[in-house]
Parts: sequence; structure tokens; C-alpha cells
Amino acid sequence: MLAAIVGEDRVRSGDYERAYHARGRSYLDLLRLRAGDLSEAPDAVVYPRGTEEVLAVLALASEREIAVVPFGGGTGATGGVTAQRGRFGAVITLDMSDMDRLIAVDPVSQTAVAQAGISGPALEKALEAKGLTLEPQSCEFSTLGGSIAQGDAGDWLIGAKLATPRGLIEAGPRWKGLLLGSQGVLGVITEASIRVRQLPEVSDHRAYLFRDFASGAAAVREAMQAGVQAAMLRVSDAETTRFLSAFRQVGKSKTLTMRLIQHTLDWRGYGERPCNLIAGFEGKTKTVSFARAAFDAIAKKHGALVRGRVGGDQWKKTRFATPYLRDSLLDRGVGVETIETAAPWSRLDALYAAVRTAIESAIAQHVPRQGAKGVVMGELDPAYTDGARLRFTVIFPRLLDGDVAQAQAISQAAHEAILANGGTHQDVHPLGVAAGTSELAVAALRAVKAALDPKGVLNPGTLLSD
Ligand SMILES: Cc1cc2nc3c(=O)[nH]c(=O)nc-3n(C[C@H](O)[C@H](O)[C@H](O)COP(=O)(O)OP(=O)(O)OC[C@H]3O[C@@H](n4cnc5c(N)ncnc54)[C@H](O)[C@@H]3O)c2cc1C
Repeated sequence: MLAAIVGEDRVRSGDYERAYHARGRSYLDLLRLRAGDLSEAPDAVVYPRGTEEVLAVLALASEREIAVVPFGGGTGATGGVTAQRGRFGAVITLDMSDMDRLIAVDPVSQTAVAQAGISGPALEKALEAKGLTLEPQSCEFSTLGGSIAQGDAGDWLIGAKLATPRGLIEAGPRWKGLLLGSQGVLGVITEASIRVRQLPEVSDHRAYLFRDFASGAAAVREAMQAGVQAAMLRVSDAETTRFLSAFRQVGKSKTLTMRLIQHTLDWRGYGERPCNLIAGFEGKTKTVSFARAAFDAIAKKHGALVRGRVGGDQWKKTRFATPYLRDSLLDRGVGVETIETAAPWSRLDALYAAVRTAIESAIAQHVPRQGAKGVVMGELDPAYTDGARLRFTVIFPRLLDGDVAQAQAISQAAHEAILANGGTHQDVHPLGVAAGTSELAVAALRAVKAALDPKGVLNPGTLLSD
């Protein structure tokens, strides 16, 4: 029946296809994959080519009570692409990768419409050919639909086509709150309308050094609230700064210039716990130099040392590479977990400190041998006028005979500290489906889901578990 909708070659149930689509890219996903645990693999993978095919697959799945898991790039870290079979006898994954076209561009309004399965780099390339850009993507394999469903979309989302078992919704701007972070439980995003902008004349990334994390964060807050037009402002804490700089030096001996720089930094008080900040400015030459000068002044007021372009260019070169170190580190008995949260500025310092402490003590309680330590690295990015996101990358010795329990203990400790200190969870839907959410809010989301997906076939067990 599925083959009658999409064609025989677009319904695949070979081992490779099922294994490839079994899991996302969280640390727990990697551990389970390495342990050969494919217990939650889908029964078949379907590759639709357009909205009509998606609608027909969903109608059939609803009629036959087959669970459907939408799959973009499979890079999400919240378990959303893993089929949780529950009461369903069969599960199919809907791989969106063949819906990868840029459909239309309106250069006057600076908007575009693209199919949801297009990857970040492919979309950028297609837009670039028309002198336009969206923004740097979080990960080179993530898709447009996945970024929206995972909640990573920025201000650029205008609306989307949402295919549901009951039909199509042309979801306009008022639907944004429901689409963002919906993780495929309300429908399948088949196309999205997005805001784009002209390719910048200049793209200028600079590095700054602060004496501590709090002064870096304060500079970013002041810049955001003063309306400084920065394309990015990312503060690394002392551990991240030290780790990345040590990593770049591996295999290299310290030159005289490097020693001199270190002495100067020590002498000027940046030697203890220096924190790096990368600021990116994009646009017309004049606007960029104006924004950069404004940020320079704010950064200096907060005690920053302006390091210039070299640090910025270094970051640009390696930004997509560092997350992949996770696999090599895993091979060498080192675990790498990431935890994200966000909070208003007034709570950010306390949240940062509490989450760090919670993670450090969870690592100390779950290490292979007494005294073994981990590294907890924090980064602030992106920032808004009212608050910012914090991302923690945690590196620790793997407890080889209990690595899943170890990872769960670390993220549990972090999430408890996040809740206790007014942070939001990475996996929170805008309607607030997370621990501690009011029953009324959950009931409201369930009512929306019941209206769109009465048989509950869309991504069962994700966000709204029974
Ligand atoms: C190496 C690496 C680096 C990363 N760096 C960052 C980073 O810097 N910042 C950041 O925010 N994230 C980062 N991520 C996380 C990840 O890239 C994002 O979460 C991404 O937006 C997910 O997109 P995807 O297409 O892979 O979605 P998937 O993982 O395929 O899906 C995510 C969720 O959305 C649902 N879904 C997918 N497509 C659709 C659709 N068309 N309609 C409805 N539901 C759908 C899925 O069912 C699932 O629940 C990184 C991941 C990796 C592996």
C-alpha cells in the first residue's frame, strides 16, 4: 500500500536502512549504537517526494494505525527520531531527504520557500546563487524541517506547510509557537517560508579575551540591549578557552612568540582564567565597522583585550569540525555529553554556576576510579536582549561497564539544577511539555494533537508520552 503511494523503490526495509534511521546523535544514541542496540529500529523507511505523498502516507498510517517518525538529518540530540513503538504493531520512518528543493525566492521581500528536507549547506548554496543567505547552520547535516521541529530555527521562520493525518494546514506566523520544537508530533513540515537576507558585503569575526566568564556575559548583555548589530556573540568560559587552546597546540612546541604572548597575558591579568569571546559582524562595510566599533567600546569597558581577526578566522575554520571529535574520544574511553539551557539575564550567572557544580559532582560520583575527573565546559550563545542560551560540553572518563547509567546520572543532575535555577530545558516544547509543567498546559497540547492526529500515530512517545 505504501509502495502504491511513493513507488516501490521508495519503501525500503533492508537492515542498513533500518539501522541508519534507528537513532539520532545524542551521547546516549551513540552509546546504544556502539553497543549494537537497534531494538527501536523502524520496520521500514519511506522516502516521499512531495506534500501530496506525505499526506497520503499519513492518511494511510492513521487508517491502519501505523506509527510514523519524521526524519530530517537525524542529527537531533533529544531522541526524537527514535521510534517508540508503544501500542503500535508497525513503525515507519519518513525520511525527508528527497524533498530538498528551493522552491521560490522573492528577492524584493527577501523571502524564500523551500522543501523541508533540504540540508543547511544545500539551502545556503542555492540561496547564495541568488545573492542571498539564511544564516550559518548549527550542523552541516541538519535539515530545514528538522531545525524547525527541533526548535533551533531563529527569527527567520515565517510559516510552513504542515501535513497531518487529517489534511494539510498552511501554518502562518501565528502557528510558529506550535511548529517550533514540535518534534514531529503534530504533523510533518513539508515546506517552509523563510526570511532571507542579502549576502553580506563583509563577514568579519573577531576574538576578544575577558578576565572571566561573567564580564564576557555582561559585555554581551550590554551589546544586545544597546542594539549592537552583531551576527554572533559567543562567550566561552575558562575551561572551554583552555581546552580549545590546548587542543590547537597538540603536537606543536611552544615558540618564543607564544611564550611572549603568554607572559604579556599573565602580566596584564588575563593569565588565570581567560575567557574567549567570538564576535561576528556581517553586512555592508560601513554598518559592520560601526557595529564593531560599538562592540569594541563595550568589550573594553568590561575589561576585554581585543585579539583581532586571527582568533575569529580560526573559529570559522574549525566550527563544524569540533563536534565530531566526540567519536574519536569515545574510542579512547572518553565520554562527551552536551547539555543546553536558556535563562533570562538576571538568572544566568546563578544558573551557570549551579549547573556546573551539579555536573561536576555527578561526574565525581560516577567515575571508573577514585579521584578521576572530568572537564565541564560552558558557552553562551546565542544571546537576546532578555537572556541567552548556555551550552555545556562535558568530557569525562567513561565507566565502561555502566556508561549509559553514567550518562543518565550526569544529565539528570544537570536537568535538576536547570529546573531549580529557572532555566529551560533543551527538549521543552514552546507549550512547555517538560517536568514541572502544569497539567493544563499538557492537556492543551494534547487537545491540539488529538485534533490533528486522532489516532496518535505521529512520533508516539516523543514529547507527549502516555
Ligand atoms: C555534530 C553536531 C553538531 C551540532 N551542533 C549544534 C549547534 O551548534 N546548535 C544547535 O542548536 N544544534 C546543534 N546540533 C543539533 C542538531 O543539528 C539540530 O538539533 C538540528 O536542528 C536537527 O535537524 P535534523 O534535520 O537533523 O533533525 P532530526 O534529528 O532528523 O529530527 C529532529 C526532530 O524533528 C523531527 N522532524 C525532522 N524533520 C521533520 C519534519 N520535516 N517535520 C516534522 N518533524 C520533523 C524528528 O522526528 C525529530 O523529532 C548538532 C548536532 C550534531 C550531530
